[in-house]
Amino acid sequence: MSHIEDVYLGRWTNPRTGEKAPRAPVARIEILDTVAGREAELVRSVGINGEVHLVADTNTHDVLGHQVAKALRSDGFTVHEVILPGRPHATLSEMESLKQKLVNAEAAIAVGSGTINDLTKFVAAQQSLPYCVFGTAPSMDGYASSTASMGLESGLKVSLPAKPPRGVFLDISVLAAAPPHMAAAGFGDCLCNSVARIDWWMSHRVLDTQFWFEPYLVTEPDDGLLEENAEAIGNREHVAIGYLTRALVLSGMGVNFTGVSNHGSMGEHQISHYIDCFARERHPGTLHGQQVGVATLSMGRIQSWFLDQAAPPKIMPTKIDPDDMTRRMGPAIARQCEEEYRKKALDADGAARLNERLQEIWPQLREECRALQVPVEHMKRKLAEAGGATSGAELGLPSEFYREAVRHAHEMRNRFSFADLACDAGLLDGFAASEA
Ligand SMILES: [Zn+2]
Repeated sequence: MSHIEDVYLGRWTNPRTGEKAPRAPVARIEILDTVAGREAELVRSVGINGEVHLVADTNTHDVLGHQVAKALRSDGFTVHEVILPGRPHATLSEMESLKQKLVNAEAAIAVGSGTINDLTKFVAAQQSLPYCVFGTAPSMDGYASSTASMGLESGLKVSLPAKPPRGVFLDISVLAAAPPHMAAAGFGDCLCNSVARIDWWMSHRVLDTQFWFEPYLVTEPDDGLLEENAEAIGNREHVAIGYLTRALVLSGMGVNFTGVSNHGSMGEHQISHYIDCFARERHPGTLHGQQVGVATLSMGRIQSWFLDQAAPPKIMPTKIDPDDMTRRMGPAIARQCEEEYRKKALDADGAARLNERLQEIWPQLREECRALQVPVEHMKRKLAEAGGATSGAELGLPSEFYREAVRHAHEMRNRFSFADLACDAGLLDGFAASEA
């Protein structure tokens, strides 16, 4: 815990530069065995007093929201409970409806995990409301981050700038009691960091895009801990869920150093986003992190193939097929994605320059990336131990659609990954065809 405190309070020293990291915008993060009895004190400690709107869904209200509301009332707070019916989604339209409910609010308290936190975070940022969150599941790494993942009207899911909560309060007993697939999702959302790092590093070395070490340096003290505890996470043992929670919080704080999510969101996250945007009636209802876990293995296989080659790939100008994108994505999203895709697309000169660079640095780049690699078979075993699906089919997706996601996810975002390298080398069809 003291390491997390050091990081967000700006006491952590970057070992590469000897400089103190900036203070994160979050005032307090607590991972506790239980929050019971401390709810009011925690909320007051981040400057939230008096009248609050507590946002939950019916499930998270039962699990923890009811308890928090009761504790705050008995401590003198006025609490308005905003209970979202059914299974809410973090979309702009649901955000608008929450905004109406919080129009006169003075402060907001989110009780939930991904969706509830993202909706509340986004509305709080728009209305300049102080807000804090009581987490209910160890399912994703976005509790403390400054961005909110939101679905646009078109169905496209994007990461929008928001403001981090003032306080993040995580009760390990509550988190450990969440359904098993939620811990598996959190594990998948952390597992991806090694493949994301390889993608991001490759992009930095071949295209000179920016790269930061800080997100990885802050998680370094815990390296290996999650894998050692994969089975215990699958069994939702209290201590192991505590480790997972800490890893999720630290991973999310990476965004506070860089302003971007690249350190934990590259080719593998794009595959998960593709599933969320385009599976439609084929979507099995799996969580972001469960999909990320599977996609991490797919990206790991693509990276491994390249990193086994003594010679660099031969890159050709990027082929964009707007008609095919429209057929798969619908016209509105296809247009948005095409705009993003064109930003990283290589013309003939760009491809020639990239080939030149690859010729020059390939042996060295290979070595650097291989040092960061985790064997795919090892990741697969650990993911299974944590209770995660390890293939598109295990997620419940038709194989044909999962292959489509692997083949086309890189079209959605201007981040250059090994999937782009494979696509521009004419190899991605082959890689995608062997996924299931
Ligand atoms: Zn994620």
